[in-house]
Amino acid sequence: MTTHERPLDSVLETIGETPLVRIHDAPAGVPVYAKLESFNPGASVKDRIGKYMLERMLERGDLAAGGTVVEPTAGNTGIGLAVAAEQLGVDAIFVVPERFSVEKQQLMAALGAEIINTPTDDGMGGAIERAHELAEELEDAVVPQQFANPLNTEAHYETTGPEIYEALDGDVGAVVAGCGTAGTLMGIARYAREQDAETYVAAVEPEGSLYGEFLGEEREEGEYKIEGIGTHNTDTNELFDPALVDEVFAVPDRRAHEELARLAREEGHLVASSAGAASVAARHVATKIADGEIDAPYESVVTVFPDSSERYLSKGIYRSFEEWDG
Ligand code: PMP
Repeated sequence: MTTHERPLDSVLETIGETPLVRIHDAPAGVPVYAKLESFNPGASVKDRIGKYMLERMLERGDLAAGGTVVEPTAGNTGIGLAVAAEQLGVDAIFVVPERFSVEKQQLMAALGAEIINTPTDDGMGGAIERAHELAEELEDAVVPQQFANPLNTEAHYETTGPEIYEALDGDVGAVVAGCGTAGTLMGIARYAREQDAETYVAAVEPEGSLYGEFLGEEREEGEYKIEGIGTHNTDTNELFDPALVDEVFAVPDRRAHEELARLAREEGHLVASSAGAASVAARHVATKIADGEIDAPYESVVTVFPDSSERYLSKGIYRSFEEWDG
């Protein structure tokens, strides 16, 4: 299956084909598997969309060779786009609100991208506005807009979904994944429902996020420390399709933090808070399948661990819950 046994020509060829590994703290008879996306060269799930979106935009002529990609991003998407941009002969500029993780900004710069900081008080909205202004000022510049670009979902429909089904010979009962843009979950879910329309699909969000409103559920907005998933305004989440989702499971920060620590200590996974939340939600779904409360076509659950904890050491991810600065 993997192409990693032969010498490869470019770092872009190392993107995808990540390992699917069994999570041992699961109910008897319902195995839980996690796709370890930190195995990508930029160490996150976003390398997939960085490569996929730029390649398709170049093919379609939406982006000119030698052009510039401008994206408002706080992190992993910038790194994923930067990995691909340099190899594909495209310049990259990222507009990042000041407060975001220093590790991520240093990595984007090391990959050759230009970083423009916007004031923390202007939030992500300020960064989005500045990115569009810049793109207008520059020649041959485009904003991929991961929150609205169907290529984001398509990247996972074409790669992550098929890889999961190949690894498990199609025996996938439920798919569980965190939603930031929702590209990861939507791409896998669309592929999964084509394989078996009864596949159970659960979205994961932090407590305080509003994704549940898409399914008509009450949500109370609040701050959360879990990084990379959740929404404060569902109008911005254009990729999320409620028809593909059975459940939106909200995980409190404290549970995600306990679980990411457990995953490191007991199972050897150096993963971050969105993976901790995904793991909690995957166990919840597996337990319901084991108890007969969810009728899934197979007794198995697959989730995604989007990135590594090393990216968040400066935020005290392995300190106590109170000392963790999400
Ligand atoms: N976890 C982390 C750490 C992320 O950076 C992201 C992307 N924002 C996600 C999960 C969610 O992925 P998606 O945008 O595909 O929903």
